Amino acid sequence: MYVVISTQGDGDPPEDALGFVEFLQGRKAPKLDQLAFAVLGLGDSSYPQFCAVGRLLDQRLADLGATRLFACAEADLDIDAVAAPWLDQAQAKAEERLRQELHRATVTPLRRAPQPAAPDASREQASREQPAVAELLVNQRISGRDSSRDVRHIELALAGSGLHYQPGDALGVWPQNDDALVQRLLDVLALDGECVVSHGEQRLPLRQWLAEHRELTRLSRAVIAAHATRASAAELDALLADGEGLRRWLVAHQLIDLIQRWPAAWDAQQLVAALPALTPRLYSIASSQSEVGDEAHLTVVLEHTQCDGEHRFGAASHYLAQQTEGNRVRVFIEANARFRLPTDPARDVIMIGPGTGVAPFRGFVQQRAAAGGSGRNWLLFGARQFREDFYYQSEWQQALKDGRLHRLDLAFSRDGGERVYVQHRLAEQGKAVFDWLQNGAHLYICGAVAMGKDVHRALQAVLAAHAGYSAEQAEEYLRELQQQGRYARDVY
Ligand SMILES: Cc1cc2nc3c(=O)[nH]c(=O)nc-3n(C[C@H](O)[C@H](O)[C@H](O)COP(=O)(O)OP(=O)(O)OC[C@H]3O[C@@H](n4cnc5c(N)ncnc54)[C@H](O)[C@@H]3O)c2cc1C
Repeated sequence: MYVVISTQGDGDPPEDALGFVEFLQGRKAPKLDQLAFAVLGLGDSSYPQFCAVGRLLDQRLADLGATRLFACAEADLDIDAVAAPWLDQAQAKAEERLRQELHRATVTPLRRAPQPAAPDASREQASREQPAVAELLVNQRISGRDSSRDVRHIELALAGSGLHYQPGDALGVWPQNDDALVQRLLDVLALDGECVVSHGEQRLPLRQWLAEHRELTRLSRAVIAAHATRASAAELDALLADGEGLRRWLVAHQLIDLIQRWPAAWDAQQLVAALPALTPRLYSIASSQSEVGDEAHLTVVLEHTQCDGEHRFGAASHYLAQQTEGNRVRVFIEANARFRLPTDPARDVIMIGPGTGVAPFRGFVQQRAAAGGSGRNWLLFGARQFREDFYYQSEWQQALKDGRLHRLDLAFSRDGGERVYVQHRLAEQGKAVFDWLQNGAHLYICGAVAMGKDVHRALQAVLAAHAGYSAEQAEEYLRELQQQGRYARDVY
């Protein structure tokens, strides 16, 4: 058995695999001494619980008596770097075992499974590897001038791209690293941006490698370890040995900080080989094609921190924020079949989307208006300040007037007094939430991982207060909702 499993949120399995993982972890899990297995974990190393579910399953299967064929592998966003060798190994092991099973009977050598055909650029639907080009139509700041966050409403033209999406899907964006950051790295490392570097099948000037093909803003342990071998700095070695300290450092720093703080020599070739491949970023689509036609709208918060008085930006959010009308952005659709509106437009929906988590619900409300069903729409939105951070305020107010939105509950956490978040509003409105759910409503959560957990706990409390459920019963109720496709989370 081969298990390929992603980790989502804070070390959780994907929703489709919840039942499987829980069963294997439970007391009723069978002995598996006849089973041979290998696990490939998929994840994003910028999350603390990177590939946690893969590791957990790998250990659990071994504990249940199964034979591990080869070590669990952990693939980062640059999936192929780890997944391709894992697949080769999996196929080789499968062939070997098949031969053993056939008791060394004369078998014709198994042929490698046909590899998927190379993507055809002329194909209708673009893909992650063969993205489409979308023209930027609008880049508008929708957070107030005094807001602590720079949030953009972005509109992209998809006409001619062959791209289609449904509300709930995300748009994948291939960013380019900031020219100034690339130049800064070249200067600090005293490297020539025009020197040509061959790596894999590509031969490009170093500047282009760094701008278009390498992660410069997200650090990984592997990059720090590679730098440490060159820097020979005791402080850096100590950081590498301190799991929690390293995690905190990673979140707050970028490659340039590492190189400036602990200088070391790199040559162009080694640098390109050591840095992970640049990966696309996903953004929930904030529109419905029934309303905007061949456009996709996004709601993007600029990732920004300061380090030693210098600005540090996230690669993709900064790239998008810098684009002006007419610029071309490479994009693809990342479908999310688990985050869909009810097929029956008479069903009510409850949408919990603080911050940029509100994005998909703008698309949901547009879609529901176009479908013209009788189901009610309830949005719970939260952010820091009413005056600065009420994204799409006039649209929501208009939708309330037009009857496209039926309830709007707001939580602003920095407007003085106690900090109020969407989960508090949910608790206050617990009776109505429970009534809507009992009436068949679908419930959606989108936004930060931690918020998703707080809201889940608030839902358990609502069920305890208004249905008299124990913690187990509340969890069971929510699990059933999930299995019926009536409770979906998109947290990141
Ligand atoms: C399904 C999905 C939907 C999403 N929808 C939206 C949306 O609607 N709107 C939105 O704004 N975002 C959304 N996101 C998040 C988005 O994809 C990006 O993660 C976000 O914009 C930051 O990307 P960036 O390239 O700007 O920053 P990055 O370049 O990825 O990150 C830069 C910052 O991360 C920190 N960092 C560096 N290394 C690490 C590390 N190892 N661990 C942790 N932190 C590190 C550093 O401080 C650095 O400054 C969504 C994500 C997913 C998965």
